[in-house]
Amino acid sequence: MKNSRGKDIMKQYLQTPVFKAISQVADSIERETYVVGGFVRDLILKRQTTDIDIVVVGSGIEMARAVAKKLGGVKVSVFKNFGTAMFKYRGMEIEFVGARKESYHRNSRKPVVEDGTLEDDQNRRDFTINALALSLNEKSFGQLIDPFMGVKDIEAGIIRTPRDPVVTFSDDPLRMLRAIRFATQLGFRIEEKTFEGIVSQKERLEIISKERITEELNKMLMAPRPSMGFKLLEKTGLLPLILPELQALKGVEKINGIGHKDNFYHTLEVLDQLAERSDDLWLRWSALLHDIAKPRTKRFDPKVGWTFHSHNYVGMKMVPKIFQRLRLPQNEKMKFVQKMVELHMRPIVLSEEGVTDSAIRRLLFDAGDDIDSLMTLCEADITSKNEVKVRKFLRNFKIVRQKLKEIEEKDRIRNFQPPISGEEIMETFGLPPCKIVGEIKSAIKEAILEGTIHNDYEEARTFMLKKGKEMGLKG
Ligand code: ATP
Repeated sequence: MKNSRGKDIMKQYLQTPVFKAISQVADSIERETYVVGGFVRDLILKRQTTDIDIVVVGSGIEMARAVAKKLGGVKVSVFKNFGTAMFKYRGMEIEFVGARKESYHRNSRKPVVEDGTLEDDQNRRDFTINALALSLNEKSFGQLIDPFMGVKDIEAGIIRTPRDPVVTFSDDPLRMLRAIRFATQLGFRIEEKTFEGIVSQKERLEIISKERITEELNKMLMAPRPSMGFKLLEKTGLLPLILPELQALKGVEKINGIGHKDNFYHTLEVLDQLAERSDDLWLRWSALLHDIAKPRTKRFDPKVGWTFHSHNYVGMKMVPKIFQRLRLPQNEKMKFVQKMVELHMRPIVLSEEGVTDSAIRRLLFDAGDDIDSLMTLCEADITSKNEVKVRKFLRNFKIVRQKLKEIEEKDRIRNFQPPISGEEIMETFGLPPCKIVGEIKSAIKEAILEGTIHNDYEEARTFMLKKGKEMGLKG
């Protein structure tokens, strides 16, 4: 891209008060000032972004305060230790930092930092596409400074380190994951030498915190086609260091000439199909982990071939450990993923075996409010190459969905609360809290799910009295 095009791009922003204010302050305190990094990259890619990074050859904090004042006294957050300051303005987050030079030590991804020039600052950036700067000073306003031909790489869709990739990745191994994440988000290719650099430095990942790794995984998962990220993690050899359970899904074993599908690629196909249907990060995690226990449960039975009995149940049990290791939340988000992994086969089994009302009621009861998510995951799980088969599944699925709607309207099972409480059972039969109370309660629930009685107080009470009588209780 020629400088003139950079100017054109900037022109539309010239009129925004925030850039005007920065420009005026930059000239009045005589500081070279630039907008840099991801903002410039995304501007060229026409991607929406609300994060603006400003580099000042001088003090970023002083600059932030002056600009905030000019904008009418916006509140500035100052991070003295990092020499940075930021404020929010009209939905944008604007961060100011002094231009810096960095040098690294072997055991840390935290560099030693000293004041530097714009050139020093561009030299420390991870990829050519992230090392662009646009001048904000009046006389060179909108001029693009692109020392590593980053615009050319943006246009060609290439992720490349400006310097020797081995040094870049060894200095800060998080950049290996950033390379894969940007490739996934932008649909870019990692240039060969850069790719080889990752392969050679993969073991350096050990100095990166789990939180940082997971942040990148989450960003990959939220990309339009997340499979790309996981394929790159696998190809570079990073995957076993991050999610060995996912790596274990790869490969096809054959006995007596009978193979099973490659569960790694199947999982990634499911993930992509789910990403087309849902933006829910936790549902995407569910897709990634839905078959995670297949390697552990795999058996070969000469009569039926390969089986993966209870892989949904074993998988559900594996989720907490994986979440803990990756510092993912141990709360209702994790429980949701567990539920999805456990139930992921239920709708498909239903659609294959015929849809009875009681099976639908049981599914509604077990999935509760997450029934729609479960159906979405299950639909994404259909990955057969056989189009006739896929169409048949999807048709059956429609029937399941329709039936779910009908039964829910009729029986309100989704947020099922048993119509008779434990207290009422105790009072009716003069019982203390004991096992029998639980038995009666679960008999009522079963009768409703089976369709013997409706989800209705009077019917449930009559059923309870009958049940009590059978058990020799006096009501
Ligand atoms: P996104 O907001 O999608 O993460 P971004 O490029 O804005 O994309 P940030 O993490 O906000 O990413 O970083 C802003 C800029 O800082 C980057 O464009 C890059 O120039 C630089 N940068 C960030 N992290 C690193 C790193 N680990 N090594 C070198 N440069 C980095």
